[in-house]
Amino acid sequence: MSVLSVRNLRVRYTAKGPEILKGIDFDLESDDFLAMIGPSGAGKSTLIRCVNRLVEPTDGQITLLGQDVRALNARDLRGLRRNVGMIFQEFNLINRMSVMDNVLSGRLGYTSNIRSLFRHFPKEDISQALDYLDRVGLSDHINKRADELSGGQRQRVGIARALMQQPKLLLLDEPTSALDPKISREVMALIMGIAKELGVPALCNIHDVQLAKEFCNRIIGLQDGVKKFDGDTATLRDSD
Ligand code: ADP
Ligand code: ADP
Repeated sequence: MSVLSVRNLRVRYTAKGPEILKGIDFDLESDDFLAMIGPSGAGKSTLIRCVNRLVEPTDGQITLLGQDVRALNARDLRGLRRNVGMIFQEFNLINRMSVMDNVLSGRLGYTSNIRSLFRHFPKEDISQALDYLDRVGLSDHINKRADELSGGQRQRVGIARALMQQPKLLLLDEPTSALDPKISREVMALIMGIAKELGVPALCNIHDVQLAKEFCNRIIGLQDGVKKFDGDTATLRDSD
C-alpha cells in the first residue's frame, strides 16, 4: 500500500480564481524520496500543503497512511499531522527560544499551541532530542537562541525538530532555497541520509534540478498546475 495516494487533486483558492492544481495524480511508496520540481508558481507549495490539509483541496482524493485526508475531523487531522514531519524554506523556528526547546517542540506536533511548549518534558524526550541534535551536528549549540544560528544551522534544527515527531512521512517545502549552494548540498545530504537510515519516505519541493537528481530516486515535474513528468531520476532527460 502506498504511503500517500493523490487522485485528481484540484485547488482553487477562491471560487472565481484560477485553478492552481488541475487534476494531479501520483503515489508515494514507502521507499520513495520524491522530488517535486517546476518553476515558481507551478503549484508545488500548494500541492504539498494539501497533503496535511494546510490548504483545502477543491476536488479529488488524498489518502495518507491509509486515511482519507479530506474526510478527517479536526481531532483525527491533528493526529495525522503528528505523523508528518514538515521542513520549511524559512525554517519556521521560534527565534526567541533555544535550539533545544525548538527541537523538543517537535514532540508536540505541528499544530500545537505555542503556550504548551513550556511544559516539562520527560527524560526520554530530552535524551532523544540530544541524540538528534548530535546527528545534525548541533551538540555544541543546544542552549543558543535559534536566531543566533546561521541559515544552515537553523535548517538543521528544523530537521531535528521534524525527527522528534517520529514521522512516517517527511514533507519538505523548498528546504534549501534560503541557503547558499554548498550549504544546500550539505543539508540535503543530511536530510536524505537520516531519512534513509530511519526508513522514512519524503516528498520534497525543490527548484534545483541538480539537487533533485542527486538526492531523490524519483522526480515529478509540475508546470502550471499540471504534472508533466513522473519517473525514476535516471530517466529524466533535459528535454523533460
Ligand atoms: P510554487 O510552490 O510552485 O512556487 P505555489 O503553490 O506557491 O507554487 O503557487 C501557485 C500559484 O498559487 C501562484 O500563482 C500563487 O500566487 C497562487 N497562490 C499560492 N498561495 C495562494 C493563496 N493563499 N491564495 C491565493 N493564491 C495563492
Ligand atoms: P514561494 O513562492 O516561495 O512558495 P510566495 O512568496 O509565493 O512563496 O508565497 C508566500 C506566502 O504567500 C505563501 O504562504 C503563499 O501561500 C502565500 N501566497 C502566495 N501567493 C498568494 C496570493 N496570490 N494570494 C494570497 N496568498 C498568496
